[in-house]
Amino acid sequence: MSLVPALCLTCSRVTLVPLTQARQRDVTCKLCGADARVAPSCSYSERDREQFEELSEVVAEANTTSQEARGLAEAVQRALWSQTYAPTIERLCARMPGLLPMQIAAGDSSPGQRHILVKLQSILQALASAVRGGSAEYSIVSEAGESRHVSKA
Ligand SMILES: [Zn+2]
Repeated sequence: MSLVPALCLTCSRVTLVPLTQARQRDVTCKLCGADARVAPSCSYSERDREQFEELSEVVAEANTTSQEARGLAEAVQRALWSQTYAPTIERLCARMPGLLPMQIAAGDSSPGQRHILVKLQSILQALASAVRGGSAEYSIVSEAGESRHVSKA
């Protein structure tokens, strides 16, 4: 089952919802039950869920604003392109202390660091999309899968 991120406009949490639900535009926030909006992103599988939701919680606890999320998402994207992950994770940890345990768990492992950053990018981009505001509808995860966000190494 493919999962895609959805942003709750009420509690600002980003959670993963099944793509089939997203296509029917029937998405509600798991935490508060309000309507959630699917954000453009790559898709995830069930085994990504735990880490994804942990990261979403960390970002929410840090009270990351949409405006800030946009800047951070860009920094993460640059890190993914350059494949130099550690300095960006370090910087994010300074801003979001909840990331520390995950940074420690990933250690020096590039794939581990990359997993964190790919998910963070989806979460931050979802949050940043709130800034464009209104009830703007997103073309729900295009069939092409928004591959510009995926750049698998
Ligand atoms: Zn919510």
